[in-house]
Amino acid sequence: MLLCLFRKWEERLKDIEELASSYKRRPLCPRYKPQLSKPWQATPVWKLFHRQTQAFNFAKTCKQDVHVFALEKNAENKQRIYLVTTYTELWFYYRTYNETSLMHCYEVIPEEAVCKLYFDLEFYIPANQEADGKQMVADLIEFICKKIDEHYGIKCSLEDVLNLDSSTKEKFSCHLIFLLHNAAFKNNIHIGNFLRKFLQPAVLLTRKRDATVPVVVSRSQSCKAATDLPSSLENQTVTKDVSHKNPDLSFLIVNGKHGEKQLFVDLGVYTKNRNFRLYKSSKAGNSVVLDIAEDNRFVPEPVKNSCIEEQYFLSSLICNVRFSDSLKILSCDNPKEAKEKSTDLDGSVSNGGYQFSPYPEIDNFVLFLVNKDNVQGGIRRWNYFSLEQLLVYDISKYRWCMNIGRAHKSNNIMIVIDLKSENWYQKCHDPVCRAENFKSECEYFFVLPTILQLLMLSVGVVNTVVLLVFLSLKSCKPIPDLTEFL
Ligand SMILES: [Zn+2]
Repeated sequence: MLLCLFRKWEERLKDIEELASSYKRRPLCPRYKPQLSKPWQATPVWKLFHRQTQAFNFAKTCKQDVHVFALEKNAENKQRIYLVTTYTELWFYYRTYNETSLMHCYEVIPEEAVCKLYFDLEFYIPANQEADGKQMVADLIEFICKKIDEHYGIKCSLEDVLNLDSSTKEKFSCHLIFLLHNAAFKNNIHIGNFLRKFLQPAVLLTRKRDATVPVVVSRSQSCKAATDLPSSLENQTVTKDVSHKNPDLSFLIVNGKHGEKQLFVDLGVYTKNRNFRLYKSSKAGNSVVLDIAEDNRFVPEPVKNSCIEEQYFLSSLICNVRFSDSLKILSCDNPKEAKEKSTDLDGSVSNGGYQFSPYPEIDNFVLFLVNKDNVQGGIRRWNYFSLEQLLVYDISKYRWCMNIGRAHKSNNIMIVIDLKSENWYQKCHDPVCRAENFKSECEYFFVLPTILQLLMLSVGVVNTVVLLVFLSLKSCKPIPDLTEFL
């Protein structure tokens, strides 16, 4: 009996010792507690999901600026769990917890979201003994900066590119994140189109190393920068129809493990909901983290109440792009899709030349808003800012500005839908309104059933009401209260 008790006691003692040593190895981290005296600290949100869709659905219901991150649990099955939190809270735990799956963390780049230009570069070192990775990175940055200047009129240089490295003896590996001044891409699909277009000569070289690459490429197509300049000026600054000699892109060709030709730039990372590894994270089962490269020239601006490390972290986040009047949105359509779109426009009246967002009810609401004095506005373009959950619509034809109480002659207006606060407001491209940083008062937006919206758009609000009254009288049902919509 005594012996049995003694053994139990020994076992418990062993358990406690193990627990104590594990706390010693990994001390408990203080909890994230935002303080009222520090308004820049967001209220806590920390929720894990097994499925990405569940995480995005939850994120949509949060009032804070939350984002979805993927965490790699272990190297064996590469299974990922999804975390919804704010940048501030993630950074709070991320900088401290270095033995958990937080250290194998990926940013999930939401579909359709405005984002920074980013690159994933790699090659297998034993098969490329002669290759000078740093020089290749420098040459690539120079080439891309030139293309951005030529096609969007935006200047950038080595100092605007955050260079993160996670190379090993086996593999050269780095991420580049372009921090363009007042410009970002419409979404990562447009980045893919932009790169495939300009790196095409190199792609051809990988297919047939000794083949003669066509000497001339036409660059007439649809790469454009949506500026906030008056539309008359906008066209001048953007599309340039130039055709000139192919640049020598042979420096981008590397040997694969089995001797096949490959591109140094991974063009497979511009897909929907792409997971992109975070600064200071490593792949599960690997200790090499993405860290500032020796040849990195980007240094973030110091920010009050934030350390330089946090600023590097925030700079590295692909979707950390805030909406502003002066932000240029860069787009590059896939030539095939652009052709299909134009056929659509010719062949169907259903979209009337508008660009619809993934939220048809909201699009219809916006079209409903931009209708006055027999002028029906259209949606010239829309952009989605995941950081603040904003849908920004550039309106065509309808120029009524609440700031001046009349229509502008040539400058267009914007309707901004705040999905989180469920309200909307008007902004303006007019230089005077922009200088005043004009923003109309926020109003709640309501989403009518699509059928009612379509009816209002096609026969007008008054006729819709008459029709509804008639139908109600006929069926003796109460008249729907439409006054709030008028
Ligand atoms: Zn205005």
